[in-house]
Amino acid sequence: MILNDVKIIENGSLVKRDIELKHGRIRKISKSLPKGENCAGKLLIPGFANAHTHMASRLISGLGLGLSKFTFFTKVGFKAHRLRTKEDVYNAALLAGIEFLKSGVTNVLTMDVHPKPVIKALEKLGLNYLSGYPLKDKYEEAQNIENSFKMIEQLNKEHKDKIYVGLANEVECSPKLIRQALEFAKEHDLQVHMHAAETRDEVVKIKKATGKRTINYLESLGFLDYDVSLAHCTYIDIGETLLLSGHGVPVIHCPTCNYEISRKIPNTKLMLEHKINVGLGTDEFPWNPNPDIRSEALKAISLGKISVSDAFNMLWNGHALWEEAGIFEGAPANLLLIDLWKVRPYKEIERLYLNILKNNCINSVLINGEYKLKNYKLVEKINEKELEAKVKKAKQKILGKL
Ligand SMILES: [Zn+2]
Repeated sequence: MILNDVKIIENGSLVKRDIELKHGRIRKISKSLPKGENCAGKLLIPGFANAHTHMASRLISGLGLGLSKFTFFTKVGFKAHRLRTKEDVYNAALLAGIEFLKSGVTNVLTMDVHPKPVIKALEKLGLNYLSGYPLKDKYEEAQNIENSFKMIEQLNKEHKDKIYVGLANEVECSPKLIRQALEFAKEHDLQVHMHAAETRDEVVKIKKATGKRTINYLESLGFLDYDVSLAHCTYIDIGETLLLSGHGVPVIHCPTCNYEISRKIPNTKLMLEHKINVGLGTDEFPWNPNPDIRSEALKAISLGKISVSDAFNMLWNGHALWEEAGIFEGAPANLLLIDLWKVRPYKEIERLYLNILKNNCINSVLINGEYKLKNYKLVEKINEKELEAKVKKAKQKILGKL
């Protein structure tokens, strides 16, 4: 596929180029290539990564608002897990995936108690994904760990390079389980992803049990030496920030959920100063009913007092969990076509980025070189209205039984 006369950002300015896409990658960037698709008036940028979410929770969107993490899970979350069917989970994940696509997401990391129907939805939409199951051996929903590892092994066989080892969090996983998970990940060459230092409660519990702050505790388990990434890190201090930086551990920032649950977000300014790779995630639908990853970037700016470019880059930083994203020859063709007339004025890059965050301007989304969204419409034939109605109905069913 050749895209003619498309604008790209080069050294802080917009330049016109022809781009050839082949075998899922950018093959050539040139001033002149044979005639293909006319993309005049459009800007080509890499797709965004939603690097921490729970897609199945789309089913119970908004039900956590006003509730603490603990109250929500004991009163709503765990019950909802038991009340939903596989079909409910599939429909919720499919709807979430469509919403993500429309907001420019090409890569998703999701953590779900029922991963199979979520994976089915992700594959139907053709999104790049990493799927994980939250291992835990303490408190409610604690699992038979041996069976859980078997399930992950099986999933990894069926969906090579798309599965990671998920750990619920530092409190619900024993040190033994964390060590086991790290060894399992090493043996199967998988990444590990976990929630950490999300709420004050959890940090206090770890301090009480181990005498250590969360990241120091994880370091003592050898956690930071593996291929790991952490969601949140809302309550970490400068020493812990330096540890994450020194070990090159990416952090996924979920400002909406952090703020909704704790009225606090992590010190991303400090993280960026110490060169931590900070990506973005929409996290749990119960506290964040807005599936648009761009609103996380806007929140990262307003709550974290960081620059527009820093926040915008966070939309791309999550790609570190897959591979480097960018507009260069050899890059994966996970791309967005932006309608430039909808993001005026766009000469200054900061203004351009801010306008992309605020406007309905994502004309098309390509994943691995193929259109998944074209002219604001989903390419895959799915009756979106019907799907939305099904998810709403399933939510009502669950609400009725809570
Ligand atoms: Zn989460």
